[in-house]
Amino acid sequence: MDLDEELALRNEIFSALDQLVAVKGGALTRRELFDFELRGTRLPLVDGQRGIRNPASFTSTLSVMSTPNGPYSDEVVGESLHSYAYTVGDINKGDNRKLRHSVKTRLPMIFLQWIDVDGIRYVPIYPVYAIKDDPENRKILIALDEKLLDVADPLHLSPVEKRYAQRVTEQRLHQPQFRSQVLIAYKKRCAVCRLGRPELLEAAHIIPDKNIHGAAEIPNGLSLCRIHHTAFDANLIGFSPDLRVHVGPALQEAENEGPILKFALRGLHNAKLMVPEKEEYHPAGERLAERFEEFLSANPSKLANIDVALTKPVQWGGK
Ligand SMILES: [Zn+2]
Repeated sequence: MDLDEELALRNEIFSALDQLVAVKGGALTRRELFDFELRGTRLPLVDGQRGIRNPASFTSTLSVMSTPNGPYSDEVVGESLHSYAYTVGDINKGDNRKLRHSVKTRLPMIFLQWIDVDGIRYVPIYPVYAIKDDPENRKILIALDEKLLDVADPLHLSPVEKRYAQRVTEQRLHQPQFRSQVLIAYKKRCAVCRLGRPELLEAAHIIPDKNIHGAAEIPNGLSLCRIHHTAFDANLIGFSPDLRVHVGPALQEAENEGPILKFALRGLHNAKLMVPEKEEYHPAGERLAERFEEFLSANPSKLANIDVALTKPVQWGGK
């Protein structure tokens, strides 16, 4: 296979992976990565045992995995780059040969980021690029973005380059990681309406991530479908610390807007939020309280109605 053919094949893998990742809510198990198929033919994206995948017909590495528990073979370098350690043995043979060759071919590869939620899933980040070979320290550096291939010195970025790299890391790595963790903790359901289609689910921040304590961690997250996420961000609905859904006055007073308004919004007033099984993943009470204050101040006219509504809880018929 020449480099152009290999690039085309890799792009085809990425397109197929896009679909699989969307259906699975952003993260895949090692098994799912191992059983990956392209055009009806198995093409494992991971090795059975090792943290690196070098298909025989490929000139350079297809994927590398972050390690769940030490010893760490990967680490973040200079805010935007990941280092990936060579495997044990000769630096010119076996996996090391193709890993190091990736820096020369610059073919796009997959970085599999392990996520700390149920211990078995990885978020595939792709395309990423091997940017620098460091044989002395037995590692290569991986950039999350094509543009970072062109910087003069990947280890010492200029202030402009650094800002760009931070934004890329946030969008390409941290956000997908947060979304997958939250979706898995909530068993890929909307906490408000129980919709179970990962393609329609997002991870909402309870305290927005622009705030200092708006960290991208599961207790600051809620798995919500797009409608409920957007309604929450716009303070059209709010969640009280006792985990009740409050539908604000704008939606309460709207008329003739069809079934979404009637059933998916107003119909869920006072419903109880679904929370993860693990208590450590429950939405943090103090964060809900702080965010609910914002909802109340955005909807001052109906405070009394909210209190009245609290006396008539809606019951859910099972999960
Ligand atoms: Zn929903």
